[in-house]
Amino acid sequence: MVDKAQLPEINSLMDKVISLCKRRGFIFQSSEIYGGINSCYDYGPLGAELKNNLKQAWHKAMVQKRGDVVGLDSSILMHPRIWEASGHLQGFTDPLVDCKKCKKRFRADHLLELKGLKPDFRQTDFGKLNIKCPECGGSLTGVRDFNLMFKTYMGAVEDQAAEIYLRPETAQGIYVNFENVRTAANKKMPFGIAQIGKAFRNEITPGNFIFRTREFEQMEMQYFVQPKEAEQWFGYWQKQRLDWYVSLGLKKNNLKLRKHQSGELAHYAKAAVDIEYDFPFADKELEGIHNRGDFDLSRHQKYSGKTLEVLDDVTKTKYLPYIIETSGGVDRSVLAFLVDAYNEVEVRSGDTDGKHEKEVVLKLHQDLSPIKIAVLPLSKKAPLEKLGQEIYGALKENYMCAYDTTASIGKRYRRQDEIGTPYCLTVDFDSLEDNKVTVRDRDSMKQDRLATAELPDYFRDKFKC
Ligand code: ATP
Repeated sequence: MVDKAQLPEINSLMDKVISLCKRRGFIFQSSEIYGGINSCYDYGPLGAELKNNLKQAWHKAMVQKRGDVVGLDSSILMHPRIWEASGHLQGFTDPLVDCKKCKKRFRADHLLELKGLKPDFRQTDFGKLNIKCPECGGSLTGVRDFNLMFKTYMGAVEDQAAEIYLRPETAQGIYVNFENVRTAANKKMPFGIAQIGKAFRNEITPGNFIFRTREFEQMEMQYFVQPKEAEQWFGYWQKQRLDWYVSLGLKKNNLKLRKHQSGELAHYAKAAVDIEYDFPFADKELEGIHNRGDFDLSRHQKYSGKTLEVLDDVTKTKYLPYIIETSGGVDRSVLAFLVDAYNEVEVRSGDTDGKHEKEVVLKLHQDLSPIKIAVLPLSKKAPLEKLGQEIYGALKENYMCAYDTTASIGKRYRRQDEIGTPYCLTVDFDSLEDNKVTVRDRDSMKQDRLATAELPDYFRDKFKC
């Protein structure tokens, strides 16, 4: 495997995206004024919009447009027995090795990957490979299991009885609510439960900006099926999920499906396929699709003592459903969409003040763009300002809009291109006479001149809402 982080031109794409994120207020280092905290990030005004748009698009595709999947918002803190039943207390570990010299920590599977070997450290006699510390060349310790769950205490007394965990995945909240949701929502098999929420993992080596962090958001859907239909649904969801990323603009040739080898499978999985994205640093997992069999429901049934079986309407026999899971990361997706949308083009905005040779156009899908329409009166003079404000006031009822009268029009176009605004609307002196404005399309640069009265229909047509 090529370690793309070694290639300077690719490195610079990540650097450019990270710099844009900070400069324009998509993503900031968390606790920056205190020197920052490793691998934690805050979403600024534009980042918060982008992230919300992404989550809404997921919820729309996974819940709203289907009849067979319902939503859930379960709590982060849950009964500690859940993590025994799920296998996380025993098995949610990563293989840790320490450098004896510089004391840095690494994941054994990642070190194998760097050497172009299969990441299957359990099948490999790691010690015999004589792998050295990638940072300082020092010798490494043997492989130890390191549990990734964050532990804390509930209540005033910090003893073992009060130990509780921050959830490392949202899925368990779905499994333990399976029966509640099935009966309350009156769902027939097969059906799914979807939720978006925070998850926490004490990762050994967080990094690559928001790709791997210790606090992150997941969008997970668990689809409950008859065991004999599991294989078919497993294939179905792989296609659905891959198509979803493409429908929101990710370039198809940057995406691929990768099937897990048997030694790589997580403790719960019968089969697993990753949707991988060609990130600037490597091809990496964006989302996992898993056939979890009846592992989860059988374990929760056993540990809780509550039956979770359902009745087969035809045969009148009871069975424990199998689960097909789609598990994606919100933050990883945000990174993929930003990297994929980042374009540098020849100067085109008309900004003649800036001494620049290239301009950035963030070609985000319009459903994801933080700002949908920027209203840009050509001058700050009172009559133009008044008309501009009227138009802005009407449009912001339905769309996230920006209003900007500062700087030259070229500079303002450039600012909006850089943050991915699909439409810029200019109000000029002729507008005062003919009540018409100009709308510029970010991607085609086509300009439409239309009456202000036509704007609601025009944008309803553009945004399909
Ligand atoms: P990886 O192998 O990269 O650690 P994983 O196989 O442990 O990922 P899953 O447990 O399948 O990941 O989690 C589902 C999704 O949650 C991942 O595809 C990813 O998008 C997201 N995710 C998991 N861990 C992190 C993290 N530390 N930071 C950001 N997103 C994460």
